Amino acid sequence: MRFDIMTLFPETVDYILGQSIIGRAQKSGAIQVFTHNIRDYSEDKHRRVDDTPYGGGKGMLMAAPPIWNCYNAVLRMQAEACFTGMRRVIYLSPAGRVLRQEHARTLATYDSLILLCGHYEGIDERVLEEIVTDYVSIGDYVLTGGELPAMVMIDSISRLVPGVLHNDDSAGDESFENGLLEYPQYTRPPVFLDKEVPEVLLSGHHENIRKWRH
Ligand code: SAM
Repeated sequence: MRFDIMTLFPETVDYILGQSIIGRAQKSGAIQVFTHNIRDYSEDKHRRVDDTPYGGGKGMLMAAPPIWNCYNAVLRMQAEACFTGMRRVIYLSPAGRVLRQEHARTLATYDSLILLCGHYEGIDERVLEEIVTDYVSIGDYVLTGGELPAMVMIDSISRLVPGVLHNDDSAGDESFENGLLEYPQYTRPPVFLDKEVPEVLLSGHHENIRKWRH
């Protein structure tokens, strides 16, 4: 699966996604992550990407042309790599559909997700209308930029992609699968602050353990 992230802060995204399980998944080739700096596609001599909103109001808006140029460059890069898979283009937005596990599972079936991270007060509507297929929020609160939401999405979707987790079964035994939440878990030591591990877990009786966890 391939992720392309259009952002003003590629270094932040690269650093976080280069760590731990997602970092290893990139090295193994289970997923590919490409970051694209929207600023590189500005036609302004000072590389500006924002401007004041028509109609007035506080704050700045990300202008359409650099995003449009960046998006088309991503499509060209995919074409040059002979990439022809099924793709969605996602704008991370507090006004989008709130991400849930089921939605992550659907998105994990695509070959390519292009994620657009907004900043400032958001993005000129015209370029959104032109390129975006899905509007996704990570919750009903407002963040300063779309980078953290993009990383949340990539993390939650990647672990559903075959080969990303060591044991592919582990994603099927987690919270939100089968309408359930995960059971309490314990590891050594057997006693911690006078609290003992539930006896059934030490019994070796698989059926009783299964029932207790259920
Ligand atoms: N003015 C916008 C509004 O009232 O909806 C908020 C803009 S926010 C400060 C800047 C950017 O952060 C947005 O364009 C979006 O990409 C991202 N963002 C903020 N909160 C988000 C959330 N809950 N989910 C997804 N993206 C979010």
